[in-house]
Amino acid sequence: MILDYNSLLLALGFSAACLMVTLLGTWVSRRADSFLLTLVVALLFTVVGIFVFSSYTLETGTIRASLAYASLMAGFSTIYAGSVQFRTNRSPWTLASVFSFATIVPGVALILSGVDGVGFIFMNATTAALLIGTGWQYWRARAEAPVPLIGMVILYVLSGVSFALCAAVLLSRHQWVLGHAPQNWAENLNLAICVAGMSGIGALSLALHQWRLAARHRHEANTDLLTGLLNRRALFDKVSGRPIDTKTAIVTFDIDLFKSVNDQHGHAIGDMVIRIFAEELNNGVEDHEIVARLGGEEFAIVLTDTLPARAERVAADILRKFALREIPAGEARLRCTASAGIAFGRMETDNFEIVLNHADAALYQAKRDGRNRVQIADFLHEVERADAKGNAAP
Ligand code: GH3
Ligand code: MG
Ligand code: MG
Repeated sequence: MILDYNSLLLALGFSAACLMVTLLGTWVSRRADSFLLTLVVALLFTVVGIFVFSSYTLETGTIRASLAYASLMAGFSTIYAGSVQFRTNRSPWTLASVFSFATIVPGVALILSGVDGVGFIFMNATTAALLIGTGWQYWRARAEAPVPLIGMVILYVLSGVSFALCAAVLLSRHQWVLGHAPQNWAENLNLAICVAGMSGIGALSLALHQWRLAARHRHEANTDLLTGLLNRRALFDKVSGRPIDTKTAIVTFDIDLFKSVNDQHGHAIGDMVIRIFAEELNNGVEDHEIVARLGGEEFAIVLTDTLPARAERVAADILRKFALREIPAGEARLRCTASAGIAFGRMETDNFEIVLNHADAALYQAKRDGRNRVQIADFLHEVERADAKGNAAP
């Protein structure tokens, strides 16, 4: 049995309706990804548009044509707004309304004024622009989840091109006035691509949602809630077990006399001090360098391709800037200090855990020496002393 155009159109309408229900169910189960809700609204407009258009192919009339046109344009505008929302996280409704208004008003005016063919050309051309624009938005966001996003780009662009072909055929045939739905090879191709594209885009949207959820869970598992830095587990996942070379420094930090901050000013102020210290750590290193909260008021940074002088300077700058910060604590203004210990890898067998222990030992030496200072792990001084002796020898 070969399906005629209208049956295919109805099949498209029903599959769009099923997809809408699936996406709605997915969104309701975990309301994190609101771009899914935007797609649900877009599909609602599109489904209404498809069914009204289907009835228009059977029984013509400018009101029917205008209604189908308006619903479909609202649907495509919302699909585009949803893609911008996916990329930027901004609310889609203003954009969807503006694009709907800008496409519906001229198109309906053309249909109602008797040049429905021009109206269909305008509709097909704007739909092509909206779908290709949607593909462009997902293309720009592709780094987040390359596989589903590039798949979506291909399907949106293909669908957009099939709408552009519909416009081109009407244009080339100078069909300014039709009085019925356009019928030509481009319309048939367009419908076939939409049937395939719709299910593909639906499946990929769900895959994208799962991809995002997994990435969010990964991020939450690796991030310290209070400071937004990497947590201890993430730090160990990144560097544990690997050899640490002689140009890699591990610097550990510990805020001085922090217990008394909690005791005197309360836990909330203590938390603020921790956040401020984390800010100074982030400001003090390059973007690619690892900064982590080990726990409590203890932190670590990993500096690669670094000589001792730079490691000492980075640590000292962080301590100096932190000590200058005035932290509001009720009526009073509070100042805190911190101490730091630095250790480098020495030989090929040194791994992260060993170097971290050396850095910790240096840190506790800094505490013993009076706090608010940087201490570099002893063996470096030993090496320097040995070098100095070697150089001094006749
Ligand atoms: P020192 O100069 O020797 O490091 O002295 P200290 O008082 O900082 O000593 P210690 O490192 O033992 O104190 C850590 C305190 O940090 C104890 C604990 O109550 C507090 N703490 C741990 N985690 C948090 C947190 O998330 N928020 C707050 N406000 N306090 C915390
Ligand atoms: Mg401590
Ligand atoms: Mg401390």
